[in-house]
Amino acid sequence: MQQINHLIDGVSVAGTSGRTAPVYNPATGAQSGELALASVEEIDAAVASAQAAFEGWKNTSIAKRTKLMFNYRNLVVENADEIAARLTAEHGKVLSDAGGEVARAIENIEFACGLADHLKGSYSEMASTGVDVYSVRRPLGVVAGITPFNFPAMVPLWMIPNAVACGNTFVLKPSERDPSAPLFIAELFQEAGFPPGVLNVVQGDKVAVDRLLVHPDVKALSFVGSTPIAKYVYETGTAHGKRVQALAGAKNHMVVLPDADIDLAADSAVSAAYGSAGERCMAISVVVAVGDVADPLIDAIKTRVDKLVIGDGTDPASEMGPLITAEARDRTAGYVQAGIDAGATAVVDGREANFDNDGFFLGVSLLDNVTPDMTCYTDEIFGPVLSVVRTDTYQQSVQLIRDNPWGNGAAIFTRDGGAARQFQEDADAGMVGINVPIPVPVGYHSFGGWKDSAFGDTTIYGPEGIHFYTKPKVLTSRWPDPAGSAVNLGFPTNQ
Ligand code: NAD
Repeated sequence: MQQINHLIDGVSVAGTSGRTAPVYNPATGAQSGELALASVEEIDAAVASAQAAFEGWKNTSIAKRTKLMFNYRNLVVENADEIAARLTAEHGKVLSDAGGEVARAIENIEFACGLADHLKGSYSEMASTGVDVYSVRRPLGVVAGITPFNFPAMVPLWMIPNAVACGNTFVLKPSERDPSAPLFIAELFQEAGFPPGVLNVVQGDKVAVDRLLVHPDVKALSFVGSTPIAKYVYETGTAHGKRVQALAGAKNHMVVLPDADIDLAADSAVSAAYGSAGERCMAISVVVAVGDVADPLIDAIKTRVDKLVIGDGTDPASEMGPLITAEARDRTAGYVQAGIDAGATAVVDGREANFDNDGFFLGVSLLDNVTPDMTCYTDEIFGPVLSVVRTDTYQQSVQLIRDNPWGNGAAIFTRDGGAARQFQEDADAGMVGINVPIPVPVGYHSFGGWKDSAFGDTTIYGPEGIHFYTKPKVLTSRWPDPAGSAVNLGFPTNQ
């Protein structure tokens, strides 16, 4: 059984709290690790380490910081397969998907490698006679990241590279479900040459989060997770004077217009709904089929679903792995039953799939005739269930998205440029895809939803990440008329 520790001040530290949590391999259902859960003292030690490292780190030259960030980028690239293997072992996602997660994570490190450009500031010469005004962005101090189970490597790397590039030091509290990959990327960070204390990892649960939320030396918190916890983190953190960005849950709609390319829409719906067992905050969970596209689209999705290979993520043939826990599997199955009880039609019922092992597997479900009052529509399932809501018009489809409390992503499938452009305007969501089901922005844009999908006014990574992890300082300077200078500058009056 693997013992999974904290990383505090550059040293692997076993827990002293006496509390631990089991970590499972979801593909076998067997416990694979024992995770130390931090006490308040361990959180305090990690924050103290980060605080002690801050002064030196913020005064480290941009040239040195850039070099270290490039070292780190190269180490993550070299170790991409190992990171992916750890993701699959504890999260369950298939290896190809895990590799995709690492690739998206690397984008964020590469963005931070350009820190010299991002931190240039601005300058106004001669705002008044002899007066110049310039703005710089300064680091905040110790910042903390609290991350979810579904992207255990990528989400921490949405935060750490930008925060550290800006001169902050960092305390990461990863999900307790799959902590090995985030711990490993932190070990690579040390190996890249960053000083001890610049990045600390504390394993833990609510005890750890609650301490970070009130610790006076934590200046900012980036959170990614479910909506109720995001709201709690946002409210508690800001009440304690911290800058908080809290990205939350989702219910993403994919509108398919009657003129859409059915094959493209069906391929996209299947990969976006069932990839990573539906455990993505940008997963498509509702297909809104407009007019007579519904029947051919559902047939095309069903044809693909029937061929989907579900199995251990380490098997290259597998296209979808297990869910994260037995509870998540059972909760998802419960939503399928509730949908059927409420009048939905199970075109495919994932509970009928058989798996001859103890892993947390569930087949995929496709529910037709879903209406907005059903729990399979109102709740974030976070499992492999795709609901189809039929509408008569584009307007009704847009209204559904507007009425939904979440607003992370939304997509439209159409061949009509005018309709697509109109949807860009109408979709009440932070990230919109046109014939792209999962419009996760590249690392040089920023990621974040609207409404109950995000709390706080700054989205994550990219330019908004730089903004979040820095505070502005504006300097105004006046120098006397050079003619009156005590130093001989060669002006006639000085001679
Ligand atoms: P979660 O909210 O259960 O956990 C997230 C983090 O909060 C973990 O580190 C966990 O230890 C901590 N936490 C859990 N309960 C807590 C409590 N009561 N008090 C304090 N801290 C607590 O989320 P999850 O199940 O790990 O992840 C899935 C959720 O994350 C989904 O809702 C998904 O949509 C969301 N998510 C959102 C985004 C986004 O960018 N909007 C990205 C990924 C995941």
